[in-house]
Amino acid sequence: MKSPTAPDYTVREIIHRPRIAPFQSGPSRMLSADQNTLTPERRPEFRDRLIAWFTVHQRHLPWRRTKNPYHIWISEVMLQQTQVKKVLSYYDRFIRSFPTIHALAAADLQTVLKVWEKMGYYGRARNLHRAAQIVAREMGGKIPADYTAFRELPGVGDYIGAAVQSIGFDRPYAVTDGNVKRVIARLFLIDSPLNRTASLKLVRERAAELLDSEKPGLFNQAMMELGATVCHPRRPNCPGCPVSLFCGAFHTHRQLAIPVTGRTRSVPEYHTAAGVIHRDNLVLITRRKPSGLLGGLWEFPGGRVKAGETPEEACLREILEEVNLAVDIIEPLTRVRHAYTHFKIVMDVFRCRYRSGRIVLRGPVDYRWITLNEIDAFPFPVANHKFIPLLEE
Ligand code: SF4
Repeated sequence: MKSPTAPDYTVREIIHRPRIAPFQSGPSRMLSADQNTLTPERRPEFRDRLIAWFTVHQRHLPWRRTKNPYHIWISEVMLQQTQVKKVLSYYDRFIRSFPTIHALAAADLQTVLKVWEKMGYYGRARNLHRAAQIVAREMGGKIPADYTAFRELPGVGDYIGAAVQSIGFDRPYAVTDGNVKRVIARLFLIDSPLNRTASLKLVRERAAELLDSEKPGLFNQAMMELGATVCHPRRPNCPGCPVSLFCGAFHTHRQLAIPVTGRTRSVPEYHTAAGVIHRDNLVLITRRKPSGLLGGLWEFPGGRVKAGETPEEACLREILEEVNLAVDIIEPLTRVRHAYTHFKIVMDVFRCRYRSGRIVLRGPVDYRWITLNEIDAFPFPVANHKFIPLLEE
């Protein structure tokens, strides 16, 4: 039976949507290559065509059926670094678990992280939780309908600020997520790398000029949808695009050359080691400090393999340094790989047996000896989830 707070949609219904058909609301007109296609006089027509297309072709997503700013806030935070398909199930679960901002504020952080678990970027969940507590405690539970006040809450940056204020409160702030930046760069032929400050400034200015100040929420969603479903990075569907008429890149055949990518930095890879320490039928888990990477999550103790060390030596040293225990390695369990935003890790995991010592925490802020049956009650990083099923086997 559905709970009273359950949204009235199914994930299946949303993902199995019809393909987007070519846009057909008017004849296409070709403009000369040197013509400024998006002059101020032509922007009202651009807005009308974009919104007309969005009204018909948008994906039916649960957060688009509400004006509740709390729900919109949750969805936008989740969508920041996660794909729509994945967000669907997390959004549903999160709203069921914390249907109001008061419910989120009253929950303990571990419960919030557990609901967020495996979505990554846990700082987003911690900031949402802190922000909810501030709104509940200092603002009577009402999310401020004011950009500046809202922007001061933890985790609220330019993107979240503009998205929630425009979609939830119809405030005229232009959203510039990755998809919108690409669309704007193509429309206005901005051909310098978008990771440069000057290019970003230009994109934001153009986006603000283009915004429909009477329907900012609808317009922003339409721009994001256009970037996500039509103006793809590598294969833009220009024949199906409702605004090709106004697009500088389309008219100069430079869709694939814009946006220009700047130099990408190589991602470092670190070698780490971790130990699953058995003591009778229990295993040891430790909790990371509440801030920083993976803050507040539980894990198996371990750390970086230093130059000249074997992974086994690193595992024993890290366990001694972090929790003051001497252990013996029983056997290698597995090797897992995981990619974070700015680095990758290769982790060698060992089964260990407790030998001696009393726990003294140096780094972790808490610990538990637990049975494997209790493991699901604790939020773990994805890298740990990659080997936890092996323990349960
Ligand atoms: Fe993107 Fe093509 Fe539309 Fe231009 S015409 S906005 S490149 S999809």
